[in-house]
Amino acid sequence: MTLDRKRDEEQISSGLTRRQLLKASGLAGTVLGSAGLGLLGYQAGKDPSTYTGNESFQGAAQTFDRNRFAVDVPHYEKVGPTQRVDARTEVVFSRVSRLRRQWEEETGAEGLDDQLKEYYARFPEDLETDVHLIEEIFPIHREEAERHRGQFLLAEAWSNAMGEVWPDAVDTPPEESDFPSGSHGEPAEPLKMKSPETTAVLIKKIAHQLGSVLVGITRLNPDWVYSHAMRRRGFDPEQPLEIPKHWEYAIVVGTPMSWDPMYANPNYGTSSDAYSKTRIVALRLTSFIKQLGYPARPHVPGTEYDLMVPPVVIDAGLGEQGRHGVVITPELGSNFRPAVITTSLPMKIDKPIEFGVQDFCRTCKICAENCPSGSISTGKREEVRGYRRYKIDSAKCHSFWFSNLGNLGCRICVAVCPYTRKSNWLHRTALNVTSNDPTGLSHTVLTQMQKSFYPAPDPQDYYLPLLGGKNESYRKPPWWLKTEDFIDL
Ligand code: SF4
Ligand code: SF4
Repeated sequence: MTLDRKRDEEQISSGLTRRQLLKASGLAGTVLGSAGLGLLGYQAGKDPSTYTGNESFQGAAQTFDRNRFAVDVPHYEKVGPTQRVDARTEVVFSRVSRLRRQWEEETGAEGLDDQLKEYYARFPEDLETDVHLIEEIFPIHREEAERHRGQFLLAEAWSNAMGEVWPDAVDTPPEESDFPSGSHGEPAEPLKMKSPETTAVLIKKIAHQLGSVLVGITRLNPDWVYSHAMRRRGFDPEQPLEIPKHWEYAIVVGTPMSWDPMYANPNYGTSSDAYSKTRIVALRLTSFIKQLGYPARPHVPGTEYDLMVPPVVIDAGLGEQGRHGVVITPELGSNFRPAVITTSLPMKIDKPIEFGVQDFCRTCKICAENCPSGSISTGKREEVRGYRRYKIDSAKCHSFWFSNLGNLGCRICVAVCPYTRKSNWLHRTALNVTSNDPTGLSHTVLTQMQKSFYPAPDPQDYYLPLLGGKNESYRKPPWWLKTEDFIDL
């Protein structure tokens, strides 16, 4: 197996080879006159913030060198005849739940089924412990839980929200699906929140706890809601979608796509990893808000939305629209996938931001030059449904998805965008400079640097050989996605 893993990791994690990067730091230091830039040394791709929350998904936190301590046999010893565990009685949760169903004081152990009798005959001390639990401790626990319930309300709501794994989003009308019900099925009473400010702080912290990298809050602009709903959202798609009154606020959450495959778009990257993480975050946050007694409705990937997500992301202060039509954020560039939760929970809203993207896109055009289908305009923003924005030819874009082999979709425009770079000193400095440069001089310089140090294939080469191309990817795939190194084809 010829794994050129180290080189790949170096090049792909930074987007540059070591030599190129050293050159880049020198050039950038000179050109931008940013004194520290050339002196900070080589760190690209090594910064802990590089993965912005992905560590747990990529195993990067598993750093202990286990190989040094490897042994031939595990430390437990086989000393007699072995026996497999009987899950019906030897697993405490199933045994206690059976006992609860069967236990009556008058009949005692005699009233139990044969399996429990047999178990407790072998372990009589467990019978005493289990009976004490169900007769004495459970009632006390219930009583105390009722008395102190308020104290752990948020902890319980968070824990329950984390338990949401992959439920359906919603397929019933908002007046049914969005509202939380109380313990006996009646509508839940909304908890009295202290203030919109503290609620916003809480919701953002919880969103991060639930796995979101980005979170922002805005009032929902009705213009972004679909005029007619998608199927299986609880609306009649043939009728105009009437916006429910309780869709007052929109919370936006977002997580990044895996960086290294993303650079190897269009054929090795995927939207699915960020889609699924973001979806789970949104469903968890919906659950959390409902446990506070407020209505909430998730609008999530893959295709379960009642609204246009990108303008809501902009309203919530997370970024600006780029020429490629995707929102660019300061932290992740366009490398993220968002979801929205609509709710009436009163929260302090965020303001939109402008950190130089509109000016940068005016001259950059790298995405348009690299788009194989010509879907991205090189011209000015134009009016689309009453708003000025960059217009994308989504039909041509969609058609290209099937003109290249590998994972579905394309995302080349996301990968080539200078803003879509891992966090390291060079890119942070560049972001800082471009965000604070009213002259636009740094934009031209950085665009040229980008073109020099991140060479891309000819756009035609992304196409399949039968369509006149080479089925190329923007960067090489990460070592762990090279099928030929692991599987005999
Ligand atoms: S996804 Fe690909 S085809 Fe579509 S606009 Fe971006 S670069 Fe062009
Ligand atoms: S590649 Fe350039 S023009 Fe395109 S979205 Fe990114 S910054 Fe804007």
